[in-house]
Order: sequence, then C-alpha cells, then structure tokens
Amino acid sequence: MFGKSIRAFKEASEVIPGGVDSPVRAFGSVGGTPPFIDRGEGAYIYDIDGDRYIDFVQSWGPLIFGHCDSDIEEAVISTAKKGLSFGAPTLLETDLAREIVNLFDTIDKIRFVNSGTEAVMSALRLARGYTGKSDIIKFAGCYHGHSDSLLVQAGSGAVTFGSPSSPGVPEDLTKHTLLATYNDLDSVKKCFEDSSDIACIIIEPIAGNMGLVPANEEFLQGLRELCDEHNALLIFDEVMSGFRASLTGAQGITEVKPDLVTLGKVIGGGMPVGAFGGGAEIMAMLSPEGPVYQAGTLSGNPVAMAAGLASLKKLKQNPTIYVDLGAKAKRLMQGFQAAADAEEIPFTTEVRGSMFGFFFNGNRVKNFEDAQNSDTEAFAKFHQGMLSRGIYLACSAYETGFISSVMDDDMIEKTIIAAYEVMRELRD
Ligand SMILES: *Cc1c(COP(=O)(O)O)cnc(C)c1O
Repeated sequence: MFGKSIRAFKEASEVIPGGVDSPVRAFGSVGGTPPFIDRGEGAYIYDIDGDRYIDFVQSWGPLIFGHCDSDIEEAVISTAKKGLSFGAPTLLETDLAREIVNLFDTIDKIRFVNSGTEAVMSALRLARGYTGKSDIIKFAGCYHGHSDSLLVQAGSGAVTFGSPSSPGVPEDLTKHTLLATYNDLDSVKKCFEDSSDIACIIIEPIAGNMGLVPANEEFLQGLRELCDEHNALLIFDEVMSGFRASLTGAQGITEVKPDLVTLGKVIGGGMPVGAFGGGAEIMAMLSPEGPVYQAGTLSGNPVAMAAGLASLKKLKQNPTIYVDLGAKAKRLMQGFQAAADAEEIPFTTEVRGSMFGFFFNGNRVKNFEDAQNSDTEAFAKFHQGMLSRGIYLACSAYETGFISSVMDDDMIEKTIIAAYEVMRELRD
C-alpha cells in the first residue's frame, strides 16, 4: 500500500508546490501521503498502487452519480467529438440555463463560469455594482473560494473588520470584508452598526467547509430582514449544497429567498463549471446588458455544459434520489455515532440530503469556534485508520462527506464496521 504514491508525491513535489494543485489534497492535516488516483469506477476509486477505496469525497462533491456514469460519459464524449471549445454561443448553454432557471424560483437569469471561486467573485462584484456599496459580510468558517476579498481570517468569532489570512492579499481590499459569527444574528447586526456601506451578506446556507454546519431557519430569516432593511443583497453560496442537500440545495429546505445564488460542483458533473444567478433586474446589471463587467474565454464550455446537463436531467428523472441518499447518509452517521459511543469517544454528526459531517466533539457544532473545539488529532487517526481499510474520507476535520447514487447498503455497512474497528483503536 502507498509505495508508488509515496514516490509519485515526491516527484510531484519537485515540480508542483507541495506536490498538489489544491492545498487540502496534500493530506497536511491528517499526515501521511495522499494516494495518487489512477481511476474511478462507480462508488470506488483505485490508486496507482492498485488499492481500492469506497469514495466518500467524490471530487469534493460534484460526482453525485459516482465515477464514470455512462449517461454523463456518453454526453461528454459525443460533445467533445464536435469540438472542445468555440468561445461562441452554443445551444447547450441555453439548455442548462433553462434547467436551472426552471428549478430555482430565485433565479431568472444565470451566467456560467469555470469554477465556484469565479462564480462567487463575480456575484460579489455584481452585488457591489447593483447596490453601489463596497463592504461585504461573510461568516467565519464559510469558504467561498480563494478570491482576495474572501480570504479573510476565519479564526476568531469576533466581529471585526477583516485582516487577510494569506500574504499577497492587500489589507486595502479585505478591510471591506466584515466578519460575523455563523448562526449568531447579533454579530451581523453589529456589522450593520459598524458600516453603512454594506453591499451584501454572503453565506453558505448549509455550511460545508467547517465540517457540515447548517444555518438555523430563524437566523436565515434574520439575515433576510437585515438585508431588506439596509438595502443589501443576500447571496446564498450553494456551490456545494446545490443539488446535494436537495434538488434545489438549501433552498429546497429553507423558506428564505436569496437575491443571488452561486452554484458549482454538481452542475458540472465533474467538469470545471460554476454559475451565478438571480432576479432579472439584478442580472440585467451584468455586461453586456449592463455596466458590471465579467467575462471568460472558456465560460459555458460545451463539454462542461453537456456533463452538467446530463447530471441535472438524471437528477430530475429520479425524484426520490434525495430520500435514498439521505437515508444512506443517516444510516452511515448513526453507525459512526454508535461506534464512537461504544468507546465513549465524544462525537456528533449531521446530515443534509446526500451531505454528511461528523466532529470529534461532545456538543452539537453551531459555528466555526465550536468546530475548532473538536479533537482534530482523533480525526487524523480516524482518517488514517479508515483509509487503511479502504474507506476514502475527506482528509480534513473541516470538510463534508458525500453519498453517491451508486453506493449500496453493503458499502455503508462495510464502512460502519471499519468505523467500529478504528474507534476501538482510538480508545486504546
Ligand atoms: C468549493 C466551494 C467554492 C469554490 O469552488 P471552486 O470550484 O473550488 O473554486 C466556493 N464556495 C463553496 C461553498 C464551496 O464549497
């Protein structure tokens, strides 16, 4: 196990910083070497050493039908044969846009980009352009991609004007980002007291990047009211939760309506896609209809659109899919909880549709500070133990896990049995 991956990681590190193209992949917080992946098939991935894993990461969310789904594969291959990119309009863009517009009552118009980062960055510019204001409110622990304004210290629960959490991000920029505490309306009110220049609140309505931490309904309602009162826009970042928590993401669960929505991950079916959309009046501000500039050479790429379209069509054709995925996620988390309880290890779990999360924490997690009070060392050991038993979980205590449609009950039971074994090791 891992012999070839260890060598591959060394070689990659000679030519790629840290050996990876996205930091979390380096396994920094769990130790060891990341398995280099050779191929996927259904619910499984295979590494270059030939070891097989049940994949609960699914490329961090997009692969709701697992690997190599034949319908998506067929759509991608037949589209690719007609040319990879034109930088000109294609019918596929309208088809995918129409699917999404029909599903979300908050979206009249949508624009496609190449990643979630780009979607959020563009939505922020649009919110600022539309309101004519500069400041934004984000929540500690919410991740919205790596654009400058959003890379703000997510550590303290204190409400404060943000300072950058990465060198290379000027303070002149992040001073416009106000930090608030998730599920704490008072912290948001304080931001509106500190600034009269707030363009928008951006939130993951089901946070998936500090572990899985859903926002409660009264909190979301409070955000809506504050935005209306102060002429600010409410942006739901559903790059992860869209088509994961339900067919319409968090919006299939909460009554609260955002002004703008960002999407990604599942809408590309594994190809690089992001999108942002909202009401017609706001979207009309966008270039070339309006003055807010936004563009992309490969945006709306036909192969990516075809993959997304095939995924969304399949989801719509299987209306009970979220019930099934949710039942499996619940069974898995009940199993993990029971395994932890058996060894008296503090543990808590959460499920939303096909998304699941767990913390080595005796209390329910409501915000980033709570999440950070979890036992990350126990998580690291748990992760290693599960990996060595062929269970591929996200390699950070602050990530969400996913169920795919090709996972069967046997796989879930096998994973729970592994969890019992590893929890026992943790106790010893
Ligand atoms: C993954 C994610 C992003 C960033 O998307 P990329 O495609 O990685 O740029 C933004 N917001 C949320 C909520 C995400 O989960």
